[in-house]
Amino acid sequence: MLIAAHHLIDRLRHPRTRADDLAALRRRFAAVRPPTQAEDEAAQELRRQRLALSAALSEVTSCGGCAKGHPLPAGQWQGGHCCSGRTEGVFTDDEVAALRFAGTSHFDLMPPHAAHAGCVFRGPTGCSLRPEHRPNICVRYLCRELEDELRERGQLSAVKALSAELGRAFKNFVRLRPQEGPEDGMDGFPLG
Ligand code: SF4
Repeated sequence: MLIAAHHLIDRLRHPRTRADDLAALRRRFAAVRPPTQAEDEAAQELRRQRLALSAALSEVTSCGGCAKGHPLPAGQWQGGHCCSGRTEGVFTDDEVAALRFAGTSHFDLMPPHAAHAGCVFRGPTGCSLRPEHRPNICVRYLCRELEDELRERGQLSAVKALSAELGRAFKNFVRLRPQEGPEDGMDGFPLG
């Protein structure tokens, strides 16, 4: 489906702000040029690491209650405080390229059917994207509450190591790209 047609349908199904932000993001994905071989390999490595770290975090519960009692938009739902910022804050140009090179297309960018409260993919049950389609920063970010839970579970050291490894891999990816100055993906990410 063409992005313009998708946008029209999204306008009927979603709040207008979500439909418009989503269309802008889909256009950015569609505009990404093909990767070099080095970029492709680095992006595939990032995807592998995102899946590994997401699997390590699959049992945590703190992400489902961190936004309780907060003002809007964070408090729209009980969980996902760190997802209550703007979509483009996490989908930087480098993140979009990393995802696109690893196979994520604009067809994979499916939002929840719910109020628009922060990132367009944030919904009442968390992120609507599969882990391999989420920005690297989303997967590797550990707020204090999550760290506390991981410490209690005896997982903190192992998860922090995976998060640091993913951070280094992302910086390596950024260094391969022809642009001014590396970004670490933290800009604009709301801290929980
Ligand atoms: S992409 Fe998903 S995990 Fe990342 S900020 Fe948006 S809702 Fe949260």
